[in-house]
Amino acid sequence: MAPGERPAEDTDEAGLWLALDQAELSLQRSPLLVRDPALNAYVRKLVCDIAGDYCKDIRVYVIRRPYFNASMAPNGVMQVWTGALLRSENEAQIGFVLGHEIGHFTHQHSIKQWRRAKDIMNALSLLQLVAARSGTQDASDIFDVTQLVAYASLYKYGRDAERESDTEGFDRAVRLGYRADQGALLWQGLLAEDNARDRTKPSGIFATHPATEERMTTLREAAEAFRDAGTRTGEAEFRAATAPFFAAWLEDEMGRRHYPQTIVLLDRLQQRASGAHLAWIEYYRGELFRKRRAGGDDKRAIDAYRAAMRVPGYPPIAHRDLGFMYRTIQMPEQAAAEWREYLRQVPDAADRATVEHYLAQATGADHANR
Ligand SMILES: [Zn+2]
Repeated sequence: MAPGERPAEDTDEAGLWLALDQAELSLQRSPLLVRDPALNAYVRKLVCDIAGDYCKDIRVYVIRRPYFNASMAPNGVMQVWTGALLRSENEAQIGFVLGHEIGHFTHQHSIKQWRRAKDIMNALSLLQLVAARSGTQDASDIFDVTQLVAYASLYKYGRDAERESDTEGFDRAVRLGYRADQGALLWQGLLAEDNARDRTKPSGIFATHPATEERMTTLREAAEAFRDAGTRTGEAEFRAATAPFFAAWLEDEMGRRHYPQTIVLLDRLQQRASGAHLAWIEYYRGELFRKRRAGGDDKRAIDAYRAAMRVPGYPPIAHRDLGFMYRTIQMPEQAAAEWREYLRQVPDAADRATVEHYLAQATGADHANR
């Protein structure tokens, strides 16, 4: 397909294009659309660098959903989900993912697939379902499984198409001077998450692109051949662009309640984390154990909050939530100490009245007042 090409109006594809345009309008109104100008500008530039001549045909939408996904519709709508940004550690990794999606676009995989299935009606109804749900969503729908399933069946490709796009994603990232081993490294991390998956839960982390051993091995072999091709990872740039959202994306990830997977993810992210990133990872580790409360989790939660507090610039809410952990295990004095420290660090906290209420309960002051 040449850049900028669209199907003629008298073809069966024209109907699909209309449905895709409708879906795009819904996406533009969706509350899940991340509108932050700086983040959008950053992701768009990255997409443009990787897409080259196709840049002007692609419209990028960053979507707040905690699953690993990026997709590319044949009309040029690219979706990048925050779960994919959270799981990438640098530009070389997310660049490979974006290049992979651009590969699906340039090879017209989606249109070919919908046509081959002789199932244009099916594709149409799935597109309409996705569009309808995007238009009515509120922020609590970031875990909407119906949409996830519809979405996944629209963009689920065969192995040949995946291999073709992996090759293209790899080539595009390497051509920009990015290190060749980063795509395989990302897949290795995703595979580890998938292996920790709770099979009784309705969804894993993947909307469309399951990690497989085969895929990782192929990428690793490709990387071996290009070992000296590039040295750039773009880690500092990626960190700077995504740092303001890191905590919010971890919060969304926690909301999936797939704790074994989240632990694998936190372990991986921690290997290269420092500063605020490290503090947030330890804090959310504490949150995870406090909420899960499996055997030994209470102590793990306390240790994790304490580890967060050893990092300069840690979030003061670590004290508030460690206080709640102590409250749960009936250690009121320790709880009170943490809440006092929280209120000392954040005197104008929005939840000050709530915390003071618990503090009074813990110290018995409410009895004295009666
Ligand atoms: Zn793919």
